[in-house]
Amino acid sequence: FLPHLVASMEQVEETYIMVKPDAVQRGLVGEIISRFEKKGFKLTGLKLFECPKELAEEHYKDLKSKSFFPKLIDYITSGPVVCMAWEGVGVVASARKLIGSTDPLQADPGTIRGDLAVQTGRNVVHGSDSPENGKREIALWFKEGELCQWTPAQAPWLRE
Ligand code: UDP
Ligand code: MG
Repeated sequence: FLPHLVASMEQVEETYIMVKPDAVQRGLVGEIISRFEKKGFKLTGLKLFECPKELAEEHYKDLKSKSFFPKLIDYITSGPVVCMAWEGVGVVASARKLIGSTDPLQADPGTIRGDLAVQTGRNVVHGSDSPENGKREIALWFKEGELCQWTPAQAPWLRE
């Protein structure tokens, strides 16, 4: 019975989550971090950071041709962001669900954007859209030595 599929579902993934400048300014850092922490994922990297323009452009390079790209770069570099790396089985898709739709007015209540934001251009948080991009973005935003490998005490109470 599709053992390879079951095995791939158990794969530990990494995702890059970023509290955007609007959320830092609005005092929502703790609220946003706590959504992922309470869910049961493992924090492996965390820093407050002023993002250089070149890094913002590299991070969002797939959107370079979009009309909103210059405004997006201005937004992301407008103040400090909180960079995070989170780890867990299924963390990439689950974090996207916790975050909610790109347009906060379309995002379901209970999601971060659904509860805390009203406009796409101020949608408070970023989350990687695939395991590959999770790895790419963590490598982009964190230096070697900034990530911690550790075993949370609650591990056996989260997964059998
Ligand atoms: N964005 C925007 N206008 C748009 C679409 C996107 O300002 O019409 C911004 C918004 O901050 C969004 C980011 O660009 O979060 C990246 O867009 P993407 O489609 O990757 O959305 P996400 O993955 O963040 O939900
Ligand atoms: Mg995206």
